[in-house]
Amino acid sequence: MVEKPRTTLTDGRQVYPEHRDTLKDGPRAGQQKDYVVLAEEERAKGFVRPVRRSYKHQKCGGITTMGQTLAETYARQPDFYSGTFCCHCAAHFPVGADGEFVWQGTNEKVGT
Ligand SMILES: [Zn+2]
Repeated sequence: MVEKPRTTLTDGRQVYPEHRDTLKDGPRAGQQKDYVVLAEEERAKGFVRPVRRSYKHQKCGGITTMGQTLAETYARQPDFYSGTFCCHCAAHFPVGADGEFVWQGTNEKVGT
């Protein structure tokens, strides 16, 4: 049996049930209140992909840059997330092999 790795919010705080609620107003409108990442000790186990901060939404061409702990979570476990935020569309869309995002400057799909 594989134990589920510990997770936190991006700033290390504990995950709470309403973290996925979407903000209606303000500079982060459309984003979740908070995002979950792999806990610090999980990310410290090593990365299987480069740590990349920026990705392109193929539908609109817009570039979004995320925080370091999110980037390290992708690098540690590429399939951790099912979707991600596009700053230009102000909405979430799928990642993965059939997803809508590539790492900036590459043809490599985010989430693979
Ligand atoms: Zn977009």
